[in-house]
Amino acid sequence: MAETETRQGIGVSPGSAYGPVVQVAPPVRPPADEPAVEDHEAALADVKAAFESVAQALEEKARHADDTAQKILKATALIARDKGLVKAAGKQLTAGRGRANAIANSVEEYCAQFEALGGYFAERVTDLRDVGSRAVAAVLGVPAPGVPDFTEPSVVVAEDLAPAETATLDRSLVVGIVTQAGGRTSHTAILAAQMGIPAVVQLAGATAIPVGTPVALDGDTGEVTIAPEPGLVEAQRVRREKRAEALAASSGPGVTRDGHHVALLANIGGVQDAQSAGAQDLEGVGLFRTEFVFLSADRAPTVEEQAEIYRQVFRPFGDRRVVVRTLDAGADKPLSFADLGPEENPALGRRGLRLSAERPELLDAQLEALAIAAKDTGADVRVMAPMVATVEEAAWFARRVRENGLPKAGVMIEVPGAALRAAHVLAMVDFGSLGTNDLAQYTMAADRMQGALSDLLDPWQPAVLDVVAAACDGARRTGRPIGVCGESAGDPLLALVLAGLGVSSLSMAPSKVPVVRLALSLHTLPECQGLATAAREAATAKDALEAVRSRAQSALTDLL
Ligand code: PEP
Ligand code: MG
Repeated sequence: MAETETRQGIGVSPGSAYGPVVQVAPPVRPPADEPAVEDHEAALADVKAAFESVAQALEEKARHADDTAQKILKATALIARDKGLVKAAGKQLTAGRGRANAIANSVEEYCAQFEALGGYFAERVTDLRDVGSRAVAAVLGVPAPGVPDFTEPSVVVAEDLAPAETATLDRSLVVGIVTQAGGRTSHTAILAAQMGIPAVVQLAGATAIPVGTPVALDGDTGEVTIAPEPGLVEAQRVRREKRAEALAASSGPGVTRDGHHVALLANIGGVQDAQSAGAQDLEGVGLFRTEFVFLSADRAPTVEEQAEIYRQVFRPFGDRRVVVRTLDAGADKPLSFADLGPEENPALGRRGLRLSAERPELLDAQLEALAIAAKDTGADVRVMAPMVATVEEAAWFARRVRENGLPKAGVMIEVPGAALRAAHVLAMVDFGSLGTNDLAQYTMAADRMQGALSDLLDPWQPAVLDVVAAACDGARRTGRPIGVCGESAGDPLLALVLAGLGVSSLSMAPSKVPVVRLALSLHTLPECQGLATAAREAATAKDALEAVRSRAQSALTDLL
């Protein structure tokens, strides 16, 4: 039996869990002593067949997966069918490598190129290595790496989870997720929260925890206890029940104890998310990431194809608001039909609204489709642009939205330049929405896809709070509402700070809404303002969190 030990990671999906560890099988390595092939043609055919079998297995999985998972799996299958990979493997065979090594080397060549490109490309490296490892297993005739079959409710532990793996986990059997790598805004984190599975990332030594070892994890604090004492498990169970009870007792719109309204909204990525969020006690959608719908599309969707999807997304919300973000393609969210070619720095490149300057027909088709779906459903649709940096961009976007007959135009405030000039930028539109994921990335100059930079990307960084505060001041001066739709909106303590800074809505994974609602209901607006001041006066991110935690109502902090 392992010794009891508590380790600290980063909590990215709320709730606690307890169960035995299931280790995700690591990638299969090619044998070091694999001989060179004799029949080059036959070997190349084997390599091709291996990649193809991986693509087919992923597609087969996709057939049984939900909406989000399907897209991710299909996108990964496309990687497995990349002709360039087979070609590169062919060169390796010619150079005297065996089949498995040819596959592994060609994949690593691609990975090195992707890593050098950074941003979105670097993020796809996890998927690429996953495909490579599966192809190596296929060509060697050994079991595929990844999540093994298991029947007892368990905690899934991995070095990192490919989006495809996270999205296809069986929710009824996976009680928690722990990864050694990964970051706050990585796919694993966003998908786990979307699926309502408690998760901790960046846990040192996670992959060395023996299979079957019981672990208790806390997706709020990021604590993971290996072989916990029965007392701790019991205390966590009691806390879980207490928390569920407390959360069940609060319902309805987000309101502070003194009656100040802060709308509680959902972040969604497609029709299935809309159906499940629409059935929940929340006030609408604060961020519909439309690019998630088209991640695996190999051509631009037509106006009618888009309109049909948007109708299905809008309907579950009746007359509740639905804030739609126009395509945020590029960098961490690639769309093959909206690709302008490789860039040195994709996160700083022609992404988001900047892409629309070069491909205005994509934006026009989307706005037309949104207008049709809004009219057909009578939904309260508001449209916002990603990655807006200047007044001119905001004005250009608002004009196009209005020309399409859509009533409300907004901008995401996720570039520090736009945050600092929010009064002028927001004067061009009807509302703003703070994208704190990117705002943290750009304020701290830290790639959000690099788990190792998690400390810099911490939304509690006082500099990020100052930039948020500047945007809120600007919004106040212009009389425009401003909300938050980055992951920070779903952190109950940070939500209090954001409310104190003056945001009018908080949009998050639906599983996070109840605890944020409770947090608001326990504090008055002046208390939230006091918490915001305390956080901004702190010298470090850690101090800011501690300042708020120690001042917040214990009825909340006891549950966290
Ligand atoms: C953000 O940047 O905070 C945001 C909400 O957008 P995304 O995470 O999709 O970039
Ligand atoms: Mg963003």
